[in-house]
Amino acid sequence: MGRVYNFSAGPAVLPEEVLKEAAAEMLDYEGTGMSVMEMSHRSKAYETIIQEAESDLRELMNIPDNYKVLFLQGGAHLQFSMIPQNLMKNGVADYIITGQWAKKAFKEAQKYGKAVAVASSEDKTFSYIPDCSDLPLDDDADYVYICENNTIYGTKFKELPNTKGKTLVADVSSCFLSEPVDVTKYGVIYGGVQKNIGPAGVVIVIIREDLITEDVLPGTPTMCQYKIHADAKSLYNTPPAYGIYICGKVFKWLKKQGGLAAMKEHNEKKAAILYDFLDQSRLFKGTVVKEDRSLMNVPFVTGNADLDAEFIKAATAAGFVNLKGHRSVGGMRASIYNAMPVEGVVKLVEFMKKFEEEHQV
Ligand SMILES: *Cc1c(COP(=O)(O)O)cnc(C)c1O
Repeated sequence: MGRVYNFSAGPAVLPEEVLKEAAAEMLDYEGTGMSVMEMSHRSKAYETIIQEAESDLRELMNIPDNYKVLFLQGGAHLQFSMIPQNLMKNGVADYIITGQWAKKAFKEAQKYGKAVAVASSEDKTFSYIPDCSDLPLDDDADYVYICENNTIYGTKFKELPNTKGKTLVADVSSCFLSEPVDVTKYGVIYGGVQKNIGPAGVVIVIIREDLITEDVLPGTPTMCQYKIHADAKSLYNTPPAYGIYICGKVFKWLKKQGGLAAMKEHNEKKAAILYDFLDQSRLFKGTVVKEDRSLMNVPFVTGNADLDAEFIKAATAAGFVNLKGHRSVGGMRASIYNAMPVEGVVKLVEFMKKFEEEHQV
């Protein structure tokens, strides 16, 4: 069997070119006689890998010098704890609840201090982004937290919230490197890489230097302190070495594609093909308000759970896999990350049209 069109929300599709390169280097990485998996993370060869990964990411995102880039473990979930442990100096933080991931981060922060939900879109199953132009922020809030792209519900902040000068912290797991970003607007940008960058096991944290201090909450484990990792340049302990190597290859691939501006164009093109079809379809419809639609995760339904299941089954058989929606919303979801080619979306839409014709409503 050849490769399928993989619409998984994560772990997700990676550029074929990167996978082939990694395969070619598997047994002997650049004359070292060993795989990257087998080499010391303190070796010269690995030092080059991690340093190049960082400098390529800095170039792609135009990361200013006063921000650190950390390659860590524990997934996005560990950041739900590390953020309050490291940043809650006043013991207060404001959270914008736009889905399950923001809610989980909010609940975790409540363990460490006063976490306040200052806005939410739960009233309409998280199908929109709430108005964040004039939020009732706490004077003492150490930061304002968002999940910038909501993987499960398919919404995206098109405009960042007005934080009234407070530090913005963003989980960008599912929109990482999908379009250009102004890093200076954030205190912390972080994401698990398994959605849009690389293999599961790496989380990247981009954090402004003044937020990295020894003044963390009492009892914060050493491994959960940003300062420890920043001082050690992400090599305090053994990092997820092979995963970082693949991320580095994806950064080089992105540069070759023309960087994040080119990615944005590519992603807008793909999303438009799918949304335009959904907007005129008699069978399928999108579940998100138009202005807040994600470029990365596109949920849709037929309105009939049995028909949804039939569609998913037929699609899978035709080579369009992992289209089942998240268990909390049902229906379908097509995740169309950077590495999904335009052709994959065009063919999916052709398949949907055919399915629609065969299931006239
Ligand atoms: C997948 C996802 C997470 C959870 O990531 P883990 O690495 O499994 O902890 C958190 N936030 C967002 C936005 C995600 O898409």
